[in-house]
Amino acid sequence: MASYYNNNTWLWLNGTLVKASDAKMDFYSQSLHYGYSVFEGIRSYATENGTTKIFKATEHYDRLQRSAKALNMPYHWNTPALTAATYDLLQKNNLQDAYIRPIVYAPANMSFVQNDISFLAIEVWEMQPFLGDKMVRVMTSSFQRPNPKGFKIEAKAGGHYVNSILASQEAKAGGFDEALLLDINNNVAEAPGANLFFEKNGKLFTPALGNILPGITRATVLELCQNLGIAVTEGKFTTDDVKQADAAFFCGTAVETIGIQSLDDYTFPAHWDATASEKIQQAYKNLVREKSNSLIVETI
Ligand code: PMP
Repeated sequence: MASYYNNNTWLWLNGTLVKASDAKMDFYSQSLHYGYSVFEGIRSYATENGTTKIFKATEHYDRLQRSAKALNMPYHWNTPALTAATYDLLQKNNLQDAYIRPIVYAPANMSFVQNDISFLAIEVWEMQPFLGDKMVRVMTSSFQRPNPKGFKIEAKAGGHYVNSILASQEAKAGGFDEALLLDINNNVAEAPGANLFFEKNGKLFTPALGNILPGITRATVLELCQNLGIAVTEGKFTTDDVKQADAAFFCGTAVETIGIQSLDDYTFPAHWDATASEKIQQAYKNLVREKSNSLIVETI
């Protein structure tokens, strides 16, 4: 297993910096027992001019707040203060390129009633792209994404990730790198921790919102498409649609953008370097590091 901290690591716990090895939480927490937590996955990057930049910090901390609200969890923090605290935490840990994991969790409570307090921890560590940097072989999962009528699907909630873990483990046990999950209507939805785009004749397609986590990277890709003049359609698609595509990729904060080599026994035929998808991948890499030729100027 990866090591996320050592004796010199600091984390932010309810407003104070504490050593990760000294931090404590309650074993009777409703979050531990029932998966009742909300969290974020954020990345920071060393930019071209040497400064550290948290990519889309506002979008992520705003989503954390919306996720907490969706689950009826009290939330008494605000995005600018949390963003500032995260920059301090990165500095304290001497990190520029980092993965940032804020998690809102519940107090001791073995019942299902609402709490009058929540806690927040922010952890940071170095993390390579989640699925590596080589094109991935993907399996259509036997697990569907959760029914939006059974879960607050637009929230990034701890319990939802049991579904992700099952799908990912199934794919790996089958000799694949990652899973692609369908929604309850058998349309393609998303990966366990990333959104999907596929490409046909230079145009991009991606599942519409409704059965997927509204990814911040997905939104960034949509912006990049607009800036690069690449046509993109959001809609309902089946695996048969994907298996007629020239190319495909996953996108998410942890995976960044990663090309898909194959889905089940279908190999995407286009040469990756000749695709619009590869242009998006390059543009995303430039954007997060604020390279001078990046196409979107970040305002935060
Ligand atoms: N879908 C799921 C299920 C995820 O866990 C993630 C990662 N948060 C994504 C999509 C991508 O979201 P984002 O681009 O905001 O990281």
